[in-house]
Amino acid sequence: MESSNLKDAGLKVTHPRKRILDILETQRNKHLTADDIYRCLIEAKEDIGLATVYRVLNQFESAGLVEKHNFESGQAYYELDSGEHHDHMVCVETGKVIEFVSAEIEAAQKKIAAEHGYEIEDHSLVIYVRPKSKS
Ligand SMILES: [Zn+2]
Repeated sequence: MESSNLKDAGLKVTHPRKRILDILETQRNKHLTADDIYRCLIEAKEDIGLATVYRVLNQFESAGLVEKHNFESGQAYYELDSGEHHDHMVCVETGKVIEFVSAEIEAAQKKIAAEHGYEIEDHSLVIYVRPKSKS
């Protein structure tokens, strides 16, 4: 199943590409950094270097298989491109990434763009949050 994804994306099936796609697929709800993926590979006793992980992720991004997010935490996060739009919240304390979709926000953005004489081509929204203090 993974190999056909690679072929559909126009990429030759290689071992590193298969393994990295595997990791992205089995952790589907997660947003992973190259380091996270590299660590998974080490745990699985795979001999794939970090440079290869970066190279493969760039190829995946160019092929439209993954989406890359540059959150303010500095490290890029990668996720499989599900084709479905969603926005993100990033916890500044833990680095946790939360996905959400808000019809209200989508509608408000359309309205604001229209008020300026535009229609939305694309957008990405990231909200930086911290856990609510309990006091
Ligand atoms: Zn996401």
